[in-house]
Order: sequence, then C-alpha cells, then structure tokens
Amino acid sequence: MALMTGEQYIESLRSLKTQVYMFGEKVENWVDHPIIRPSINCVAATYDFADNPEYSDLAVVTSNLTGNKINRFTNLHQSTEDLKNKVKMQRALGQITASCFQRCVGMDAFNATFSTTYEIDKKYGTDYHERFKKFLIDVQDNDLTVDGAMTDPKGNRGASPSGQEDPDLFVRIVEEREDGIIVSGAKVHQTGSINSHSHLVMPTQAMAEADSKYAVAFSCPSDAEGLFMIYGRQSCDTRKLEKDADVDLGNKKYGGQEALVVFDNVFIPNENVYLKGESEFAGMLVERFAGYHRQSYGGCKVGVGDVVIGAAALAAEYNGAQKASHIKDKLIEMTHLNETLYCCGIACSAEGYATEAGNYQIDLLLANVCKQNVTRFPYEIVRLAEDIAGGLMVTMPSQADFRSDLKIPTESGKTIGEWCNKFFVGAPGVSVENRMRVMRFLENICLGAAAVGYRTESMHGAGSPQAQRIMIQRQGNIEGKKAFAKKVAGIVE
Ligand code: SF4
Ligand code: FE
Repeated sequence: MALMTGEQYIESLRSLKTQVYMFGEKVENWVDHPIIRPSINCVAATYDFADNPEYSDLAVVTSNLTGNKINRFTNLHQSTEDLKNKVKMQRALGQITASCFQRCVGMDAFNATFSTTYEIDKKYGTDYHERFKKFLIDVQDNDLTVDGAMTDPKGNRGASPSGQEDPDLFVRIVEEREDGIIVSGAKVHQTGSINSHSHLVMPTQAMAEADSKYAVAFSCPSDAEGLFMIYGRQSCDTRKLEKDADVDLGNKKYGGQEALVVFDNVFIPNENVYLKGESEFAGMLVERFAGYHRQSYGGCKVGVGDVVIGAAALAAEYNGAQKASHIKDKLIEMTHLNETLYCCGIACSAEGYATEAGNYQIDLLLANVCKQNVTRFPYEIVRLAEDIAGGLMVTMPSQADFRSDLKIPTESGKTIGEWCNKFFVGAPGVSVENRMRVMRFLENICLGAAAVGYRTESMHGAGSPQAQRIMIQRQGNIEGKKAFAKKVAGIVE
C-alpha cells in the first residue's frame, strides 16, 4: 500500500472502534472532538511531511525488511546517517507544529524491540524476532501510527511490581493460554495513544525473576476488546470549546495528547507477543527504548524551541523593543541553549553503533546527556521568552473582547473592541491582532495547553531527570577517568 496522506490517516482513524472517555463521559466521535482534533492534526503532519517534496528526502526511506518505500517513522535505522536524519526530521516537524507530533514513540519502540527480540531468541530459541518483523512489515506497508507504551502507574514506588497491593499497577500476564495471553494493567501518560492504530507495549523497568509475569511485551490494536482510554486534560483545554476559538488558543491547528490506557483482561494472540517472562531482557528493552526517545528530544524540542525563539523575537518587534541590547542578548542565549540540545541529538546519533540484529542504536551516554539538558534548557528558554514578551501574554483581554461591538456607556461611546484595540497598540504599523496572536502563542507554549509538550514533557517525557542521572553514572566510566588521572599525575598505588 502507498504511504498515506494526512487526510487519509485521519479517515483511517474513523474505522477504529477506539473507546475514549473524557470529562466523565464516553466520546463517540473523538476524531472530530475540538479538544482532541489538534493532536490528530499533529500526527497527520507526519504523513503530510512525507508527502511534501520539500521534505520527502528526509521523511521517506526504503525498508530494509521489504525494499518498499516507507515513512521514516516506521523505519529501522540502518546507519548513523539514519539516526541523524531522524533527529533532523523531528526538528523540522517541531518547527511546523510547535507541538508533540506523537509518532516517535512507536518508531523508538520498533527499533528497541527489533534488537532486543533478536537477542532473546539467540538465548532462548524463541521466535519473538520473526513475530515482531511480521508486525512491523504490516505497520510499514500500511503506514500505521503505533503508540510505544512503556510507563506503568507503578503505585507504591517503594515496592516491586509483584509487591504492590493491587497487582494491576504494572501491566501483567493474568493468564496463559495455548493460543495467547490475557493481560491486565494500564499505561499512563501515553503520548498519542488515542491517535494510534495500535500499541506496542513494553515493560516499564528492569524486572527481577520474581516479577516474570510483568516481563511482557506485545502489540495490540487500539480497539482491542477490554482496552479503553481516558483522556489527559491540559491547562486551558476548554478554550478549544469556546465559540469561534482562534486567537486565544495560541496554536489553533496543532497540539499534543496523553491518555491513560487501560487493559482490562485483553487477549493477545501468541503471534503478537514479543517477550513473555524472560525477565532479564526487560531492562535491555527499557534502556534501548529510553535511549532512542532521549535522542528524539534533541530533535523535536529543538524544533519547538525554534518557534519559541521566533515568537519572542516577534514579540520584541511588536513591542518596538527589538533594538535593545538586552533583547538581542537574550535571543542569543536562547539560541545557544537550543542549539546545544541539537548538538546532543546529533552527537548521540553520530556515535551510534550496529546492534546484533543489524539496526542502529544511539550512544547511550550521549543520549542521556541530551535528555538531561532537555530537562533544563527549555525552562530557561521559556523564562527568557516570558521576559521578552512582557506580562501582557497573561493579562490581555480575550479574543471576544477585542472583537466585541458592545458600546460602553461613557462619554466616548466606544465599543469594548475599540477600547482594547486603542490600548493594546504596540510598535507603529503592527496590527493589534498580530500582537495578540504572538502573545497568546507564548502563553500557550509557556503555560497553557502546549506547555505540556514543551515544558513538563521536557522534564518527565522519556524518563524523569533522575533516570538519566542513573544512566550517566553507569555509562560515565569513572574508573577509566581515575586511571587517566593516576597516569598523568604519576600515581602508583
Ligand atoms: Fe516525538 Fe518529541 Fe512527542 Fe516524543 S515528545 S513523541 S519525540 S514529538
Ligand atoms: Fe515524549
């Protein structure tokens, strides 16, 4: 099948019977729901991107499994060039959408599962790798979006999966049958889960042998029986329900999405199971997936950062302050921080290596350094953007006020709109509406609905800061560094 366009992708979602709940109710037509739709548009951008001649070199690749043309989002990386191009594609999509376009979690899960299943089979003689290849060929040929699902609710962080009072707090095998397994549990903050055709579920952490029922990886369609999702609300999300909502949204077309995905006794046929009890491989799968996704942030967040920096520069111009030296310096600082993140994304890609299965893995230490920086720099970029924009981004009246023709009964007899347009004027020649738009964009990305994707996701997505610090400690080779120091300093013990 040919690659889908964005429109075809949106239409393809309509045939799914995905069960979605929001605000305490079932959402029947979730594809057209005004709160959900911007996040669907954002995934659709990954399809239109591949359809756009300007970007297709970056977005369309040849499958090593079939020789067919596929979207890079379904690719198994074949070289360090592929790894770098992945980051470049993510930066470009961040620039286009200024949001989380969600499809990377699947791409990262494919690559981690591909290499890990190969190594499990080598040890145990299982056939997970062949099963997984069949699944992936179907994904590639049908150009599907897949939710790479890792994070479990985890309940009491002081207890192991099997030590929890409620056994469902980590996804687990409830029953083994001849033809498959029954699983229960949930995955939390699942990026793009509702917008995905299917899910690739992985364990959330390294597992001990006692937790072998929790060492499970599988794929299943979004509308599998027993599977449902509860939408994660975002700051200011109900603005999207307002009449003629536009300027106040800041980013009308695109947005990100997270949900709680619940598996209530879901049947998974054997051919879709890729890990079942080989607990020592859970850690490998987690580490590889997390490594890829930490690399991803050196692309997507940089692209969004480009838009934030551009908006801050525009806000300065619209305020007539662009010539001030401190403004120029703040824009330099923002650019320096943003490009440092990009350097990390490219570096961990350039230092990648071939796995035993043949696809390419990023350098784990550098990918963790990348993500650790992402937990900090976007916060500083946003702080500087707020500094440049001024308080107006949070104190401005609404779009409805600016457009209101209700006369206020004072001597001048002006309307609400006229008063707003009079007093929120900026630099000469700048339209008040454009000034509003850039302020609302900055409000949205710094502390509104889009802040989920730029700030908090920078902190906690792909693992919270401490998870990277543990990996940096493991990969940092302090013993090797001590040996350097001893040699240079002439120390003989
Ligand atoms: Fe892709 Fe970035 Fe969203 Fe992760 S956070 S899915 S890397 S856009
Ligand atoms: Fe993410």
